[in-house]
Amino acid sequence: MVSGVFLSSLLLIAGEPSDTLSANTLFGHEVKEVEPLSALELQQRQADFQQMLDDNGWVMMGDQVRPGTAEGGFTQPPRPSADWVTPPHRNTIFLNFFGMDMSPGTNAALGESPCLNAPTAWPGFNGTEAQALALIEVFERQVEPYGIRIAYEDYPPPELPYAMVMMGGTPGMLGLPNGVLGVSCSSDCGDMWWRDATFAFTDNINPNNAATLGTTALHEAAHAFGLAHIGDPTKIMNPFVGSADVIWADQCTPYDDATGGINCQPTHDEFCDGGAQNTHAELMAYFGANSPDMEPPQVRITAPEDGLQLPVGGDVTIEADVDDNHEGYGWKLVLVEAEQESVAFAFERQWQLSSLPEGVYTVRVEAIDHDRNIGTDEVTIYVGVDAPETTGGDETGTSGDDSDAGSGSDSQSGTSGDGSDDSGPVSGGDTDGGTAGASDDGGGCSTAPHDTGVGFGALLLLGFGLVRRRR
Ligand SMILES: [Zn+2]
Repeated sequence: MVSGVFLSSLLLIAGEPSDTLSANTLFGHEVKEVEPLSALELQQRQADFQQMLDDNGWVMMGDQVRPGTAEGGFTQPPRPSADWVTPPHRNTIFLNFFGMDMSPGTNAALGESPCLNAPTAWPGFNGTEAQALALIEVFERQVEPYGIRIAYEDYPPPELPYAMVMMGGTPGMLGLPNGVLGVSCSSDCGDMWWRDATFAFTDNINPNNAATLGTTALHEAAHAFGLAHIGDPTKIMNPFVGSADVIWADQCTPYDDATGGINCQPTHDEFCDGGAQNTHAELMAYFGANSPDMEPPQVRITAPEDGLQLPVGGDVTIEADVDDNHEGYGWKLVLVEAEQESVAFAFERQWQLSSLPEGVYTVRVEAIDHDRNIGTDEVTIYVGVDAPETTGGDETGTSGDDSDAGSGSDSQSGTSGDGSDDSGPVSGGDTDGGTAGASDDGGGCSTAPHDTGVGFGALLLLGFGLVRRRR
């Protein structure tokens, strides 16, 4: 298994360009194709990428982009980010073979990645469905021991906190040297941030090479969890692509800084005595051991009471309790009749509805876990309308394995790019505010402009960025 000869490197040597014709569809989805860039455009992307690093105080070493020090290393957190003192969270990794319109940011569900400095059309996988399935098998086998789910046939619903690996394109499209097989630009250690998007540049890898494709995707996703390079060439976190059958290291394995800095050292020190990383121990601490999960999240709308009557133009605050047997779940608020929804990207549990026009409003909070069990609760609000004598409702907890069970479309938010599509069911004000954490209405009770006239702004927009949810 140890060849001793590295056929190519994640950093140094590009694989052979693919000569396979692009498939038009994979798993029933259209695969995005992007015109090749001219030499001038590639140069411009390089310059733009360098400018972005400089502007942010980031450095690129090997296949990672992270905050850098004046001495040229990665900035280390002052103390370990103590993710392991919280319960493990389950996770979904979406292998995106479809490509999409992407933009700078930190939210994979909005097509955002910190590797980007401008809106960028990203191409899908330049291989066949059989080739995709072969690499998925490699990927799946390696995440099987952990509380990690894999998605590839559809965009996961945006309320599910998921990580994404873009399975397409070339490093040059990001402005990176031709020879990097993948890149992670996430800077959180201990997987504190759950919605990272990373890249596997599959156009530079022969699509028949399932092992290299699958392990490149694993390697970049793992960087986004905060894992670093180690020296053993039989292990996935080795910086070089060598022998085909690599696995996670399950013992403290010395770092390999051949391609640049070692990230998150204080975190690795929690599992080893320094200078080494136990990849398996960290994955187990972050995601827990695998097991089936049949239990839907519990949702209870605590305010207002079902059947609340309001005058026309009234305001109301919606509050909900959400819980589940595993961490990692997400949720959204849905105004059923208005066909609007607000994804709780900031894990907000309060929402303000303002200046409500006359009508009957079914307000639903819907939560989902990584096995796609769904729990919901609903209340009905009567605005300028008499409530019926007896109101039903206060139903709790429908479950199902079908991710399409809710009103959330699989792809609407996932493909919206910058989340600014006001025509969709997602309220623009909420999505933008929650994502940026710095929008004008952050924390306010403002009325989001919308052509239905329904104000639907998030009351509480918690600090975003790299804040881990805590309860
Ligand atoms: Zn790497």
